[in-house]
Amino acid sequence: RQAQYQALRDKPCVTKDGHEIALHLNAGLLVDLPHIEETGAAGIGLFRTELQFMVAPTFPRIGEQLALYRAVLETAGAKPVTFRTLDIGGDKVLPYMSAFEEENPAMGWRAIRLGLDRPGLMRSQIRALLRAASGKALRVMFPMVADVSEFEQGKLMVEHELTYLRRHGHTLPERVEIGVMVEVPSLLFQLDDLLPRVDFLSVGSNDLFQFLYAADRGNSRVAERYDPISAPFVRALRLIARKGREHRKPVTLCGELASKPIGALTLVAIGYRSLSLTPSAVGPVKSMLLDLDAEKALATIGPLLDHSETGMTLRQRIESFASSE
Ligand code: PEP
Ligand code: MG
Repeated sequence: RQAQYQALRDKPCVTKDGHEIALHLNAGLLVDLPHIEETGAAGIGLFRTELQFMVAPTFPRIGEQLALYRAVLETAGAKPVTFRTLDIGGDKVLPYMSAFEEENPAMGWRAIRLGLDRPGLMRSQIRALLRAASGKALRVMFPMVADVSEFEQGKLMVEHELTYLRRHGHTLPERVEIGVMVEVPSLLFQLDDLLPRVDFLSVGSNDLFQFLYAADRGNSRVAERYDPISAPFVRALRLIARKGREHRKPVTLCGELASKPIGALTLVAIGYRSLSLTPSAVGPVKSMLLDLDAEKALATIGPLLDHSETGMTLRQRIESFASSE
């Protein structure tokens, strides 16, 4: 198997009916970087910057952040890297940060909320990212945005830092693209307002599913109670892909769903052309996509999404399609 996946490394990822699918990696530490070369991935679709903070004994200084981001960009070379700003709080706690008791930490003071309320932290991270990308392209996205105004405030922070660095004679990035993670359901109903403002979207299906079904992803009694490959969730994902196309903005999906062949099949069928995966999933997902007729997959599952047919569940329909191919 492993050798078979290895042989696919340099093969373009194109479905049988000619759709090109970009496969990126999820990463977070220096040890993840060799996977770009090993898998032949198109880039890093999600760089979880909080991991450096979670493994450190104290707050990483701006110089340490800068060193990591530089190393990541250097290793990636011409391939794009999408850095997510700190997603701390919730299930991602820092032992050295004074704990604030919250009844519902997943829905609490975390990610961009914390970043906007403690701007010193977020500003220094953005400054480190901008400096690391001096003369290069930089892609940054904000986690847990629930309202367009939070994106606007985050973007303003990036603009302020650009002005600061320019004034201090630093070489700026050649280009800065700013995106949003779609992982809070409220964004589903702000897409027409949000899309014209962003450079790209990336769907965080782990959190989006958790919040859409009100099922804690860390609670074993409920985490697997509902199926992400079910009509309600797949309709939500299809809406995001459609809106992205309508507004001509790129949409990627970086949650676990993309790392399972059956999930990736579903996503490509409903219009996703870019996925970000855990490194070990690239081989199996690519091997499935090379054999996939995406139009045929859509014709099979579309009717279940458009009107509720009874009989088979969406997963059953997709599994029977996959095994008949
Ligand atoms: C997600 O929520 O799907 C995601 C990619 O982010 P994380 O798993 O780090 O919360
Ligand atoms: Mg998330």
